[in-house]
Amino acid sequence: MSEEEVREEYLFKIVVIGDSAVGKSNLLSRFSRDEFDHNSKATIGVEFQTQVVEIDGKEIKAQVWDTAGQERFRAVTSAYYRGAVGALVVYDISRKTTFENIKRWLDELNTHCDTTVARMLVGNKCDLENIRDVSVEEGKNLAEEEGLFFIETSALDSTNVNTAFEIVIREIYKNVS
Ligand code: GDP
Ligand code: MG
Repeated sequence: MSEEEVREEYLFKIVVIGDSAVGKSNLLSRFSRDEFDHNSKATIGVEFQTQVVEIDGKEIKAQVWDTAGQERFRAVTSAYYRGAVGALVVYDISRKTTFENIKRWLDELNTHCDTTVARMLVGNKCDLENIRDVSVEEGKNLAEEEGLFFIETSALDSTNVNTAFEIVIREIYKNVS
């Protein structure tokens, strides 16, 4: 490897937003440590986790930020959004209200970040098919309207969690490389 290549560094800040208890912290712990926490407890302490991923042979550090239980609207500070180049906007497929609030989260994202931020709409808890309250179609349609990527995930059984982050990371990489 040449010195040039060694010096090349990619650090992407990605924020995870959405209503309380949609599974943001568990998506992050599944992605960064392959862990799931059954006890719902308010996120305390850790502001972000850094996970290294390899894209096209390049080492990329994904610095993923988790709201420290500040999910009320406008309680998330601008420092949280500062410098973000990617965002996962999360709802819970078993709770319609969390889906209805997505527009407000997108508004908030747009007031803090410019439109080039790679944005993924995430319908989490897809393992809860038996109590589904938001159809896949509804998710897809909203994503299309708003120009977002769309995916359904389960932090519980790991479905699509890495894929969700990887799509966002690839898109960011595409924009900067
Ligand atoms: P946050 O408030 O958005 O950070 O949500 P948490 O990650 O704390 O999760 C809230 C609750 O939902 C916890 O009881 C989790 O165990 C549960 N949970 C999170 N992700 C999933 C999932 O994919 N499937 C199911 N069934 N439960 C989940
Ligand atoms: Mg949390």
